[in-house]
Amino acid sequence: MPRALITGITGQDGLYLGELLLSKGYEVFGLIRGQNNPKRALVEATLPGVKILTGDLTDLSSLIRALEAAKPDEFYNLGAISFVAYSWENASLTTEVTAKGVLNALEAVRLYSGDEPAKVRFYQASSSEMFGKVQQVPQDEDTLLWPRSPYGVAKVFGHYMTINYRESYGMHASSGVLFNHESPRRGPEFVTRKVSQAVARISLGLQENIVLGNLDARRDWGFAGDYVEAMWLMLQQEEADDYVISTGETHSIKELLEKAFAVVGITDWEKYVVQNPEFMRPAEVDLLIGSSAKAESKLGWKPRVGFEELVTMMVENDVVEQKALAGL
Ligand code: NDP
Repeated sequence: MPRALITGITGQDGLYLGELLLSKGYEVFGLIRGQNNPKRALVEATLPGVKILTGDLTDLSSLIRALEAAKPDEFYNLGAISFVAYSWENASLTTEVTAKGVLNALEAVRLYSGDEPAKVRFYQASSSEMFGKVQQVPQDEDTLLWPRSPYGVAKVFGHYMTINYRESYGMHASSGVLFNHESPRRGPEFVTRKVSQAVARISLGLQENIVLGNLDARRDWGFAGDYVEAMWLMLQQEEADDYVISTGETHSIKELLEKAFAVVGITDWEKYVVQNPEFMRPAEVDLLIGSSAKAESKLGWKPRVGFEELVTMMVENDVVEQKALAGL
């Protein structure tokens, strides 16, 4: 039975990846931080049989202990402070977790692996936010990185450190440069989920409007369930490498709103939307649109869920969830 250790198991991707690995017969270990993490129950309910270990990416010895307990064949480093807006207000903390945490994870795997550097296959969750001020459209594995937020800068550090450990020590360390991916499990601070929750609540008469920043911002949005499959595929390759994972399509926040409101039968959506410049990023990223040609040819990976299906899935989920929460 293959064994996997996942950091960030309480997050959107951790839950989908845990489900995927359990369905493939893995023994799954999830690293949870804090003394009494409120999401532990959610992880145990979603991933029956998962083994919880405690630890923190900022604490190297806790990672070594987790590796010794899990004895994993594969290590997926998904843990991060992952919200761009938060990273401006907490730049130093973001650097500790999202940048230095990757170094800690790599170093823990290196120390644990002893004289077998490729004993544990390592996945790093890199991000399209590393492209920021884009130097090429669409972006691929060779595009120059020019991050535009403390989060993006931290991810660049983790990305290059992963490559560096692969090249310096012969580790089987791969980096997935994933474009935005969403789902009903996306945190409510992210714009897609903020919209799907608000649309559900507006349709139920529980909320009057939604306040947003730049409605013209465009993103390449895929479905998280598809993207965790790409992570797994990367670690099944003989050679470790880096891959861009994206849909190759972009949509604006306006299109997101139009589609989301349409799911609940509202066509005059503009009257429910309030724009507030305070919600705009200090430095907006340019046109992020990825080319996953390499992932398609080498991993045989392609996204399955399209934009409309994704938005429908999220809004329908939130209608049910918000109804239940409001006792309707
Ligand atoms: P989430 O924000 O949903 O999850 C982040 C996870 O990191 C949570 O489990 C969180 O735990 C954990 N975490 C935070 N701080 C620490 C710490 N100090 N030590 C250990 N774990 C910690 O992110 P996603 O699931 O959406 O994303 C997974 C990874 O992929 C992240 O690294 C993200 O940056 C990256 N990524 C995501 C993209 C996306 O569109 N979703 C795109 C590209 C990259 P807790 O619940 O305790 O806070």
